[in-house]
Amino acid sequence: MKTITNIKNKISEPTTRALRPFGTSIFTEMTALASEFGAVNLSQGFPDFEGPLEVRQKAAEAIIRGPNQYPPSMGIPSFRKAIARKMMRFYGVEVDPDTEITVTSGATEGLCATLLGILEPGDEVILIEPAYDSYAPISALAGAKIRFVRLTPPDFKLPMDELEAAFNPATKAILINTPQNPCGKVFTREELSFIGDLCIQHDCFAISDEVYEHLVYSEGGHATLLSIPSLRNRGFLVSSTAKTFSMTGWKQGYVIAAPSLSRAVRMSHQFITFSGQPALQEAMAAAIDSPDTYYEWLLDSYTKKRAFLCDALKELGFDVLEPEGSYYTLADVRPLGFDDDYAFCRMLPREAGVAAIPSSCFWSERNCAREYVRFCFCKKDETLEEGVKRLRKWLGK
Ligand code: PMP
Ligand code: GLN
Repeated sequence: MKTITNIKNKISEPTTRALRPFGTSIFTEMTALASEFGAVNLSQGFPDFEGPLEVRQKAAEAIIRGPNQYPPSMGIPSFRKAIARKMMRFYGVEVDPDTEITVTSGATEGLCATLLGILEPGDEVILIEPAYDSYAPISALAGAKIRFVRLTPPDFKLPMDELEAAFNPATKAILINTPQNPCGKVFTREELSFIGDLCIQHDCFAISDEVYEHLVYSEGGHATLLSIPSLRNRGFLVSSTAKTFSMTGWKQGYVIAAPSLSRAVRMSHQFITFSGQPALQEAMAAAIDSPDTYYEWLLDSYTKKRAFLCDALKELGFDVLEPEGSYYTLADVRPLGFDDDYAFCRMLPREAGVAAIPSSCFWSERNCAREYVRFCFCKKDETLEEGVKRLRKWLGK
């Protein structure tokens, strides 16, 4: 047999240039630290309690009964119909389940399918920072140039002039998150309409990540992008059942957009995952139709958890920013004598037995909010109590 000799076994860098600037997700890093030190994990945003038993039973029954083969790429009809009913029930927005809804593997894939479906090299995408961790890498993978518009603590006001100036002939899309992770900002109808006007003026699209849509504590509630007339045919609404039904591991998300826009999403979705899991879709279809009492209970329960954690952190000496929505709160660590969120969060699990997220990871520059750390309150009451007890002991209070 012929052998090849004298070759250097050099393996070139496999990661694409676009992805190289992005390290391991901060959620992975902080949850690993929490496990290593047995810390109360108030970092990665997942509930430590199970979602509704009936929903899990429905999924189990569906798995046993079958079918368990590929469902339609766009999602099973009953799930899409339930999503369409929900859009009418909560927002008065009429949506066609056949042509306007695509079920995806969580909001994460929904965002990915949307961005990869519409962006090409040379396009610009406007991201509002603090921006959730997947927005920039996926935009970069698509070859798009990112233009950040920055919101800053403590009020996270949308700078209208800067936003307007960010739009230009290369702008293909703007991506917003309402309620926004990690600052809890909820976009008003006026802000959404302003974005809609800019999208018309520059003939571009708006994408809205609304995974925390049912966790809004401020008066006025949640305004969805698709309820803004100027954005009904230019907007992609990305959402997920993860937070609403406390099952982040199921990854049941979806994208809603006008038929021609949905075609772009479906085009990329079919080559990313092709389809989701039929039994979980069937169970979530029933979950979405839950009575109002379920949604009221969810909000009430999170309202109490939010008050408990914010009050406790204030009492411990943090300067706390109470969120309008989502299940996170930002706490300023300067009153406690610290000034660097990464150093604080890397030390906290070992020293205090509690884990949190350095908030500056959501900004493109570290200096933007390095005094703030993010604590989540999507945890059992006893977990939150234990976390506060440990922080109190560590601070000697
Ligand atoms: N968007 C935001 C703003 C998030 O905080 C998260 C985290 N859950 C996601 C998207 C991801 O959602 P999913 O788990 O449905 O993929
Ligand atoms: N959305 C969750 C958070 O912000 C994390 C999701 C993930 O781990 N990718 O904490």
